[in-house]
Amino acid sequence: MNMTPSQPQTNLEEALKSHWEDKPQNYLPKGWENLVLNLHKKIVEIDPNYTLCQIKSKFGALRFYYDSDKSNLIDKLVSEAEEKSTITCEKCGKPGSSEIVNNWMITICGECYDKLNRSTE
Ligand SMILES: [Zn+2]
Repeated sequence: MNMTPSQPQTNLEEALKSHWEDKPQNYLPKGWENLVLNLHKKIVEIDPNYTLCQIKSKFGALRFYYDSDKSNLIDKLVSEAEEKSTITCEKCGKPGSSEIVNNWMITICGECYDKLNRSTE
């Protein structure tokens, strides 16, 4: 029996579903879902058929890999979102900053950082 609960589908997953080139292989922190959803909305206005390759978090920043022949217009939007992620708590979406937690750089707000520290003690 499989005891792993499947993650509830969010609006974001629903919105991105048809854009994945393959099956989704992404790790997207909860706090950045709005960031990615807004980015997605801006991209489809430029290229409704763009392809999503990968979304992940690297060194406390969002990395958004996509494919489109309008990348000259989209790259700027992606950079903006990636930049914004470095000041957005990846847990809750509030303003945050980069911190090292368990040798891993994440972007987090003071409140979530405290919570995390308490839970790992
Ligand atoms: Zn937070």
